Amino acid sequence: AGRMAFEEAGAGGVRHGRVPLGLKRKGLRVVVTGGAGFVGSHLVDRLLARGDSVIVVDNFFTGRKENVAHHAGNPNFEMIRHDVVEPILLEVDQIYHLACPASPVHYKFNPVKTIKTNVVGTLNMLGLAKRVGARFLLTSTSEVYGDPLQHPQVETYWGNVNPIGVRSCYDEGKRTAETLTMDYHRGANLEVRIARIFNTYGPRMCIDDGRVVSNFVAQALRKEPLTVYGDGKQTRSFQYVSDLVEGLMKLMEGDHVGPFNLGNPGEFTMLELAKVVQDTIDPNARIEFRANTADDPHKRKPDITKAKELLGWEPKVALRNGLPLMVQDFRTRIFGDQKQQQQ
Ligand code: NAD
Ligand code: UDP
Ligand code: UDP
Repeated sequence: AGRMAFEEAGAGGVRHGRVPLGLKRKGLRVVVTGGAGFVGSHLVDRLLARGDSVIVVDNFFTGRKENVAHHAGNPNFEMIRHDVVEPILLEVDQIYHLACPASPVHYKFNPVKTIKTNVVGTLNMLGLAKRVGARFLLTSTSEVYGDPLQHPQVETYWGNVNPIGVRSCYDEGKRTAETLTMDYHRGANLEVRIARIFNTYGPRMCIDDGRVVSNFVAQALRKEPLTVYGDGKQTRSFQYVSDLVEGLMKLMEGDHVGPFNLGNPGEFTMLELAKVVQDTIDPNARIEFRANTADDPHKRKPDITKAKELLGWEPKVALRNGLPLMVQDFRTRIFGDQKQQQQ
């Protein structure tokens, strides 16, 4: 019955021929699942700015209407409250599939739902892409490398992932999403793209999502101690959101399936990050050590040679330049505009 319904609904509006990229730029209809979230909303800004029609599909689990509220009234913008675990019918040319909680606090909150989002949600979006002949881009994650035994991580590395741990709903979920994406590519000839995103920060991040950059920035602004988990010697590489969005769009428009690492190779220990936050916000901010969480990867740093060579992409914003832009946004959201003007 499902299939019948799809075919009937598709009969009127589906554009069967693929729109040559670069031509009829204005005609592109793009779905962004998770478009009310942190990364998604910045992507939506860019797509609308270049003249695309954008449909955001989001269930607002971690996303916020405020992130895209500035597009209300734009005839090229549409927002649908929908859970990607349920099928949906749309007529589009491109699908950026971002819907999935991204911070450990959120994805561990309901792990079974996280798996369903990654597996059933991705399956539905692939089914949709297949029905209308749309190009599909999956936002996967550096977590597919698990606690990596190879450093830095290259796309050919298969990872070191615990299948039964508390992070598995997310990293195994994304690994399955990558598998599904490749199986639709091989089996149904679907045009697909896979991005493996490394830790990204910037304005519109959830303030209390528990991720390290948002925690440290909010803590320093609120004059609370910066909570360093474990000994603080574990490393991450932090990418500013505009660099990521640029990479996602280049990947979608390019000729290569991937997977591609999209991240900033600058590597910081959590103690070094705390220092940058102190320098940026409050040199007197105290540091407090806390027990670390289970299965925390010890180090992570992308090898981005492949994206450089094949997509002509590399990040431009260093941590010390990107952080102040996020601090400005957090300050406004935590204290309101008035306080910001006083400072
Ligand atoms: P986010 O939590 O801000 O955004 C995710 C969005 O998806 C939210 O708007 C949320 O409401 C929506 N969503 C979640 N489950 C849904 C469902 N079942 N149906 C419909 N919508 C749903 O996170 P983000 O940082 O913007 O991440 C976006 C994507 O990028 C995610 O797929 C994430 O796994 C991936 N990613 C992000 C990072 C990062 O550092 N931010 C790193 C690696 C991968
Ligand atoms: N699907 C969807 N929208 C569409 C087409 C498909 O949500 O426009 C869903 C559909 O419910 C199915 C999944 O995508 O669960 C996979 O679809 P596909 O046609 O590939 O597989 P099948 O329906 O044959 O299992
Ligand atoms: N972390 C920390 N203090 C915090 C939050 C996180 O020291 O308040 C550490 C965490 O243990 C991990 C690193 O920062 O080693 C990155 O954590 P995050 O949750 O931001 O991202 P992920 O683990 O998914 O890379």
